[in-house]
Amino acid sequence: MDIDLARAWVQAIAVAVGRHKDHLTQLDSAIGDADHGTNLDRGFSAAAAVVADLDAETVGAVLTRTGTALISSTGGASGPLYGAAFRALGKSLDVPVADQRAFAAALAAGLESIRKLGTAAPGDKTMIDAYAPAVAAFEERSRQGDGFAAAAQAAADAAEEGMRATTPLQARKGRASYLGARSVGHQDPGATSTALIFRALADVAAA
Ligand code: ADP
Ligand code: MG
Ligand code: MG
Repeated sequence: MDIDLARAWVQAIAVAVGRHKDHLTQLDSAIGDADHGTNLDRGFSAAAAVVADLDAETVGAVLTRTGTALISSTGGASGPLYGAAFRALGKSLDVPVADQRAFAAALAAGLESIRKLGTAAPGDKTMIDAYAPAVAAFEERSRQGDGFAAAAQAAADAAEEGMRATTPLQARKGRASYLGARSVGHQDPGATSTALIFRALADVAAA
């Protein structure tokens, strides 16, 4: 990944989140407080504006600034969590061009920071349920010798699968957990936005 691809990724996420804003909010209205789409639309729009003007010298600068913008603009539980993840990605990629192995490690660092901050485990019906399988798929395909675009494609597919698999789960973290068994039968909003984030990566990597 180079600086232009990092910038394109953030901008593609902003476009995707804008397009799916109502859907994300709808999902959050079933098991939360109906703000996930508006939260993320605000956050990623702010991040996209910041990186568009940024005179970055490293991939990390783009992603770290994205994380900072998310923390200050998003709101909700998801803002600090995605913010921490992008800041961790950025911190791991302090280079003008990151090779695939470094990017895989950065994704893992992003996941670790979400885990640390939110203390959710796989199966708790959160963004982790899409993020963790995406990282595993990216790592696995990279190990098998596939290129960046193919690995990103596999990561996006795995994130979407993980997203769908949240539906039968009972939430154990975040606002949805207050509903107990009533959270069962609804797709998690954060897992859904994570799937958008990885699909955006696959799209820009394929372009
Ligand atoms: P809020 O619940 O504060 O309104 P959002 O609606 O923006 O925040 O985001 C909700 C999403 O955040 C959930 O669908 C879930 O995926 C994710 N989430 C909430 N709490 C946690 C947590 N502790 N760890 C990981 N993800 C979480
Ligand atoms: Mg919400
Ligand atoms: Mg909220």
